[in-house]
Amino acid sequence: MQITKHKVAAIHYTLTDNEGKVLDSSSGREPLYYIHGIGNLIPGMEDGLEGKTKGDKFQIKVAPEKGYGVKEDTLIQQVPRTAFGTQEIKVGMQFQTNRGQVVTVTKVGLENITVDANHPLAGVELNFAVEVMEIREATADELSHGHVHGPGGHHH
Ligand code: ZN
Repeated sequence: MQITKHKVAAIHYTLTDNEGKVLDSSSGREPLYYIHGIGNLIPGMEDGLEGKTKGDKFQIKVAPEKGYGVKEDTLIQQVPRTAFGTQEIKVGMQFQTNRGQVVTVTKVGLENITVDANHPLAGVELNFAVEVMEIREATADELSHGHVHGPGGHHH
């Protein structure tokens, strides 16, 4: 069986940046279960997994455009320090805006705080080392819900 649209696949993966730093890994956890072809994963991952079979081990290189997007300058903003009240602000802190957007503090100035609403992996080239553990048909329920049920998925 190959990974094609509406198959459920279980994969182990390790994600590194171009300097070899590990950003995320399923190592030591359950494999990642997903439904192929419906946008559960970033487009570059789905492209790389298409047609693979159980036991395949390979690398997928994903450009930002097919990953978490390119960095957009318009999503970087300066906010008056007073907007944060009296709490101490440090680089790397994350806040949720009124509109539900997550922003990361990238610079702390005397008057202004710079916050970035880009995804932390925006603009980053992603290198995935992948192993396909399992492939099966998705059930009708899974397709209507848009996610995997049972092991590695939702229990409801
Ligand atoms: Zn469900």
